[in-house]
Amino acid sequence: MGVTLASGVFRVMEEKFVISASRTKDLVRVSPGRLAEILNGNVPARFGLGMKPQLLQLESIGALVIWTKDPANMMIHPLLHEVLERYVEDHGGIIILNLTVTGLGGSALEPGLPTVDSVRNATEAVVDRELVRPEGIILRFDPLVRALLPGGILLGNISIEVFNDVLEAFYPMGIARIKTSLVDDRYAHVPERIGRLGFMLDLPDTEWLEGFYEEMASQCRRFGARLDICCHPESFVTGETNGCVDGRMINELLEDARASWRVTTTLHNDIGRQRPTCRCTYSRDIGYSPGFKTCFKNHGACIYCYSQKNLRGTAIDRATELLREMKERTGGKPAPDCTCRGNRRPQSDERR
Ligand code: SF4
Repeated sequence: MGVTLASGVFRVMEEKFVISASRTKDLVRVSPGRLAEILNGNVPARFGLGMKPQLLQLESIGALVIWTKDPANMMIHPLLHEVLERYVEDHGGIIILNLTVTGLGGSALEPGLPTVDSVRNATEAVVDRELVRPEGIILRFDPLVRALLPGGILLGNISIEVFNDVLEAFYPMGIARIKTSLVDDRYAHVPERIGRLGFMLDLPDTEWLEGFYEEMASQCRRFGARLDICCHPESFVTGETNGCVDGRMINELLEDARASWRVTTTLHNDIGRQRPTCRCTYSRDIGYSPGFKTCFKNHGACIYCYSQKNLRGTAIDRATELLREMKERTGGKPAPDCTCRGNRRPQSDERR
């Protein structure tokens, strides 16, 4: 891989690999110390179950893709902050942030997770400190989820009002890449976990959903942002076909930063195994490394999470409490004026 310099000289560009931290766990929020140790090469990383552990070196990481629902520890956790700062400043490293903000933080679907405002403030701090550029942030209003509680109470974020609240909170920072997808209920532990809490997923039909995607896309255009749908067969809404790990996007940022290397743009599916419609480029996920905690044990977690199988934990206890409070507050009947969070099902599933 190489580039032709202005002088016409063809220069072979070193290719470095992309570290993904991680699709499977929220490492920054739940295991910041361990993440710092692994990035620093103090303890070995593992890129898959059963794979040989290996020590990382910061200078060998072409780009670091962080997935989180709360970036605060990138600033406030001393060791992690020091490692990330050194990665960016001493090694010219690029951090990509897959920042998930569903609008449900703190609700019974995301007990213990932060609110939109608190995530916005933490993100502003990370951007102001130049650990991540706004162009390197993918705002994930993802997943779209809706759950039906006894008495017809709906809890979820399939609402243009909720989406707009999130866009209004983050777009002014220069974050223009938006990602969404529908909750993935194919994994048995998801409906089981939800069922144990006394509610069930209540998802719209495909035709209705496609209409909702179009409406989200037009809201994005109104802001000057662009929407992409994760693992959507054909992105007819936006025509965008970007992965959550996007080698082209990373190389654009590396070029801007005059970095002397590039990362691969080979699709992960051409090397590893992802969902058939996944458009991510190749990366190595360190979420399988020993020592990382799951969200459900002692942290906030998402009741619809498919990557973690926990059916018990503090998050589940907190969700049970929140549901009891909601029932007491609404007397089991939905409050007429609230938005999609705890609202009655739209009569005809008419648009929003
Ligand atoms: S519970 Fe699952 S979806 Fe939620 S933050 Fe943790 S890993 Fe992500």
